[in-house]
Amino acid sequence: YNPVETVRQSIRSISDWPKPGVTFRDITPVLQDPRCFRMLIDIFVARYMRQRLDLVAGVDARGFIIGSVIAYELNLGFVPIRKKGKLPFETVGEDYDLEYGSSSVEIHTDAVKPGQRVLLMDDLIATGGTLLAASRLLQRLGANVVEAAAIIDLPELGGSKLIKESGLPVHALYEF
Ligand code: IMP
Repeated sequence: YNPVETVRQSIRSISDWPKPGVTFRDITPVLQDPRCFRMLIDIFVARYMRQRLDLVAGVDARGFIIGSVIAYELNLGFVPIRKKGKLPFETVGEDYDLEYGSSSVEIHTDAVKPGQRVLLMDDLIATGGTLLAASRLLQRLGANVVEAAAIIDLPELGGSKLIKESGLPVHALYEF
């Protein structure tokens, strides 16, 4: 009985989506199965339960699903980092480059207090642009970003290496 291996086997790979040549790693089968969902969350909870965190920040949209449940289990608050234009209160934003074009993430200016220890969560690290932009937002608010974490890393795209080189600890459960 190996929870890490059991969860890995429930991650589905979809060829040529969202475009030809790309293989999309789909975690919806993990979420759909109550045993796998709980194993996934418990693996992260075990990693962070003794880290004296203050908050979990999750990235729009799959980072919300796992980040909020991890926060709940650790008795912590949850902060959403959203795509541009979705948050109603005063925000700060960070732009980042995509393969074609660019994107932007935002956070509420009162989401984090200076010095708070924050875990940053998303489902997957590709180029690392999303998590790096999200960590810049948190750092601009004075947060101490303890780690950038994801379920899956695609090491060939170099994102986790970039995040590490920026000085931020990075953790992923699986490499694909
Ligand atoms: P990055 O900014 O290039 O690291 O891309 C990571 C972002 O794109 C994350 O928010 C992911 O949710 C999303 N993403 C990219 N590729 C995949 C994939 O294969 N499966 C699920 N999400 C992906």
